[in-house]
Amino acid sequence: MNYKNITVAGSGVLGFQIAFQTAFHGFQVTVYDINDAALERAKAKFDGLSKEFTKDLNATPEQLKQTFDNLTYSSDLAEAVKNADLLIESVPENPTIKIGFYEKLAKVAPAKTVFVTNSSTMLPSEFADATGRPSQFLALHFANSIWKHNTAEIMGHPGTDPKVFEDIVAFSKAIGMLALPLKKEQPGYIINSMLVPFFYSATDLLLSEVADAHTIDKTWMKATGAPAGPFGMVDVVGITTLYNVIKMNAEKTKDPIRIKTVAFLKENFIDTNKLGVATGEGFYQYPNPAYKEEAFLK
Ligand code: NAD
Repeated sequence: MNYKNITVAGSGVLGFQIAFQTAFHGFQVTVYDINDAALERAKAKFDGLSKEFTKDLNATPEQLKQTFDNLTYSSDLAEAVKNADLLIESVPENPTIKIGFYEKLAKVAPAKTVFVTNSSTMLPSEFADATGRPSQFLALHFANSIWKHNTAEIMGHPGTDPKVFEDIVAFSKAIGMLALPLKKEQPGYIINSMLVPFFYSATDLLLSEVADAHTIDKTWMKATGAPAGPFGMVDVVGITTLYNVIKMNAEKTKDPIRIKTVAFLKENFIDTNKLGVATGEGFYQYPNPAYKEEAFLK
């Protein structure tokens, strides 16, 4: 792997973290977004992120200055990608937007550029044709707060060149990630293939009135030694995400317990803006949720 110039497309929740993490590890990073206003919003967020890097990674002022020096910005796609060895796509999780983006990108990117998608729910084979270079395309999936939760799930589609796959494994390590290669395409990768059924089990227990949310969390925490239970975790992920996932499942399966869960989440959390940590309340109240207190497991 001899990548030097990286372009990150989309500077939203995940994209700006990926750009900063990559620049922090010494790569030249161009941040691309649809307009200058979006880029200005990203720039404003980098200051806050650099504080997190100081707190969590002991980043020095020199390292942070170098990180900012490694970042450039452009809202012109051809310009943003003209020297790119690798383009990391982190545009909205919407197939129409993603395909439109790849079709535009395919026309302007140099032949050498490898493309990776950070899509959480779509498979690389869904976009491989639109990229115009299926052998140089795969998924590189990050988790939110990537500097702390530094997993990189790497997932090719059947047409991905194995050498390109290995380059992405090496690149992910070079930016401080724990590289997690998948041997085949899997909707939800490894993490969501485990997490989603876990959340279904927890909400099914709750909505079947087997136990309340805090008892379910206590059981999980005490029995496994985990620092949070499913409902504490849902508050961190965001109740809206859980709601959307269960709603899709309920529409597909017509499972009565999932239908009941959708109505419950809507009435008690979505409509009341209790969306988890982000809004100060969800299954727990923040900033000091009960499950973090010693008495919770006594
Ligand atoms: P977001 O909506 O916060 O950010 C998307 C960014 O893309 C915005 O800055 C927007 O201006 C920009 N954009 C919109 N249209 C564009 C276009 N045509 N070309 C370029 N940029 C465009 O979204 P996000 O949460 O950062 O998610 C981005 C991707 O990352 C998705 O595929 C998502 O599945 C994945 N992801 C998200 C998370 C998460 O926790 N949010 C975690 C892992 C992976």
